[in-house]
Amino acid sequence: MRYSDISDSDFDRRHLWHPYTSTIDPLPCYEVESAEGCVITLKDGRRLIDGMSSWWCVIHGYSHPVLVEAAKRQIDSMSHVMFGGLTHEPAIRLGRLLLDILPDEMEHIFYADSGSVATEVAMKMAVQAQNDPRRTNFATIRSGYHGDTWNAMSVCDPVTGMHGAFGPALPRRLFAPSPECRFGDEWDPEDFAPMRRLLEENADTLAAVILEPIVQGAGGMRFYHPQYLRELRKECSRLGIFLIFDEIATGFGRTGKLFALEHAGVVPDIMLLGKGLTGGFMTFAAIATTADIALRISQSEARCMMHGPTFMGNPLACAVALASTELLLRSPWQERVKQIESIMKSRLACAADWPEVDDVRVLGAIGVIQLKEPVDLADFQRRCVDMGVWIRPFGKNAYIMPPFMAATDEQVERLCDCLLQLIRRH
Ligand SMILES: *Cc1c(COP(=O)(O)O)cnc(C)c1O
Repeated sequence: MRYSDISDSDFDRRHLWHPYTSTIDPLPCYEVESAEGCVITLKDGRRLIDGMSSWWCVIHGYSHPVLVEAAKRQIDSMSHVMFGGLTHEPAIRLGRLLLDILPDEMEHIFYADSGSVATEVAMKMAVQAQNDPRRTNFATIRSGYHGDTWNAMSVCDPVTGMHGAFGPALPRRLFAPSPECRFGDEWDPEDFAPMRRLLEENADTLAAVILEPIVQGAGGMRFYHPQYLRELRKECSRLGIFLIFDEIATGFGRTGKLFALEHAGVVPDIMLLGKGLTGGFMTFAAIATTADIALRISQSEARCMMHGPTFMGNPLACAVALASTELLLRSPWQERVKQIESIMKSRLACAADWPEVDDVRVLGAIGVIQLKEPVDLADFQRRCVDMGVWIRPFGKNAYIMPPFMAATDEQVERLCDCLLQLIRRH
């Protein structure tokens, strides 16, 4: 019982790793007792309005009764069973629903454990579908984020993607500058020129291009012009390079469309879903692809898709994902996202002129204030909690993305007002 006489908070600080933390100089953590709707309740009784959706995913709010009920019902029949040689209704019903709401070209679904694993699977799919030992590399744009596993790290932005520490250990990918032409601006054809050149010069070594459509999330919170994706689709098709859209952060309504690709009307060869897929209830991801890719993989040297995780198609996750997606589709999510967008646009606009602010941008239920200097996270969060909100910036980006189906107008207004107060002192 070596650890029984350490207080909970000391144990946590000394022995549990949190995302991107040091064991000798950990940032403070706040213990959560429960969470419901748009409110996180701390152990000490303080209640925080959630402005993060726990990193994009809690779209309906916490402890939504429909999701809780779906999980309980599934647990009573079976929480898990292997997917090798066995199948089950939650996986089938979820797959059917996803293919119904994805672009018509998507005909096959692969279930994975998390977003990062989905990135790995998609990259393996592309290599297998090329079935050409020369075409195994990947191109992407700077400021991207695709997860923390090895191959996912290799296509994250080398600087902002948080994986600089691994430098030469990672496979070397090809990076084009991230698009300069912003969402809503007039299109400048020059914006695509560097990517066009990169693809032309390297076509015979490239399996695929992978990127986040329209919204680059954790790598920079940037919103770019849909025409970039149309040009990219054309070039990829012409050069026989597959196109992978990572919709893990953007899927399920966050940007104002069910999937961000709808802003551009472009269909990729492979598409990744995660985060909001289970409404933030638990980890789960899905990779969707076309009949062509599936056929190529099945006719490739290996003759099958060479991946099959232990918890593939986990029935509990499938049942919750099904309930969450059905709930979303029958809710007025478009109106809610639009309303939140307009509140954030009007409330945050004033910061654009502030000396400490570089840029203010809002798309869908995502509001970003880009600062000139990185935020002092520990101090920021302490003041945040004192104000009764939960906002966690990274680097120079202070942003809010509330659970859009749970947050009231007043809660969104409060989040905006607190964010403004919080950055004013920096
Ligand atoms: C979060 C994220 C991932 C990684 O998902 P995990 O579930 O954290 O592994 C991949 N791509 C994008 C765009 C993401 O936002």
